[in-house]
Amino acid sequence: MTTKAETVLVTGGAGYIGSHMCVELLQSDRQVIVLDNLCNSSAASIDAIQRITQKQLSFVEGDVRDSDLLARLFAQNEIDAVLHFAGLKAVGESVAQPIKYYDNNLNGTLRLVEVMSAAQCKTLVFSSSATVYGIPDSVPIDESTVTGAINPYGRSKLMVEELLTDLYEADPSWRISLLRYFNPVGAHASGEIGEDPNDIPNNLLPYISQVAVGRLEKLNVFGNDYDTPDGTGVRDYIHVVDLVKGHLKALEYLAKGPKLAIHNLGTGNGYSVMEAIKAFEKCSGTTIPYEIASRRLGDAAVSFADPTKANTELGWQAQFDLDRMCEDVWRWQSTHPTGYPKA
Ligand code: NAD
Ligand code: UDP
Repeated sequence: MTTKAETVLVTGGAGYIGSHMCVELLQSDRQVIVLDNLCNSSAASIDAIQRITQKQLSFVEGDVRDSDLLARLFAQNEIDAVLHFAGLKAVGESVAQPIKYYDNNLNGTLRLVEVMSAAQCKTLVFSSSATVYGIPDSVPIDESTVTGAINPYGRSKLMVEELLTDLYEADPSWRISLLRYFNPVGAHASGEIGEDPNDIPNNLLPYISQVAVGRLEKLNVFGNDYDTPDGTGVRDYIHVVDLVKGHLKALEYLAKGPKLAIHNLGTGNGYSVMEAIKAFEKCSGTTIPYEIASRRLGDAAVSFADPTKANTELGWQAQFDLDRMCEDVWRWQSTHPTGYPKA
């Protein structure tokens, strides 16, 4: 007797992390449906996913807040689980346009779980963020650390965590995984998919790689007077492929029974801005011009995960080191200096 392949709906599957997720899902013989409104991505990523895997997925261009569309998707397909990546993620923009962020990130999730509930599909993995910890008092950060987001983006993530927790309390037949990502970087080893920010990048690695490829003149290092070994900010960079493999483990964990689980996805290692610059220079053979600038408002000095809970409960551990992350970013960036081909 053959068992039916699991069908997974990936919201935001054309985006940076979602596209890497689709590759892993297809390679693990799952059926994949992507729902993405392409507000921060390109359909070229869908073609690339299919080229890498030599498999087809079903791509639906649309908004996760569109209940009718969602209901049609669930009526037409036997969806076993949802991986919910769709959302807006730029901290600065969230401060300037909070309502846009609350609308997208909160309403998107509300509409999704309403339709899932009606369709009796109750397995959900949500992309949360270490930003829910705000400025932590101590590191490493484990899941029992007090939360307290400090900007609208972070608060939208925390509110979604809370609403999903309330949902589970009210109906414990749900299987919900809240994954708190540390700093996803890197790209698929094929160099076919990677991070392709619409505007000037906010995050360190995409900024460095655009300097390396000549799109940006120099990096501003936001502060060198932190209480860290070299004075620059320390973060837990995690390879995007390791990150998405954590989601497969989360799905396996949820398959064991109803629960609401929270896990950090990080390596447990912290690297400074200067260490990241040096690693990138080494793997790319370029020099990254930089200048020390003032601290960025709201930045923690140090943030890195205690990933023990994910290691033990999910049986997951990150494999790739910072050099490998930089190598893969460079392969993607140097072969796609301006990102995906523009339509
Ligand atoms: P991304 O912007 O590359 O991907 C998000 C995708 O969702 C995009 O393709 C976008 O077009 C789509 N989308 C946004 N709103 C939508 C809507 N209303 N309906 C349908 N599609 C919509 O971002 P990413 O880096 O891949 O992040 C994925 C998720 O992980 C986000 O929820 C983000 O908040 C979370 N996250 C990301 C990071 C990070 O550093 N990249 C860290 C922690 C958490
Ligand atoms: N950073 C920097 N210059 C930049 C972008 C980031 O010096 O142009 C620093 C930032 O202050 C932090 C680290 O790099 O110490 C990681 O920043 P990122 O925005 O990538 O992640 P987050 O701060 O959201 O964890």
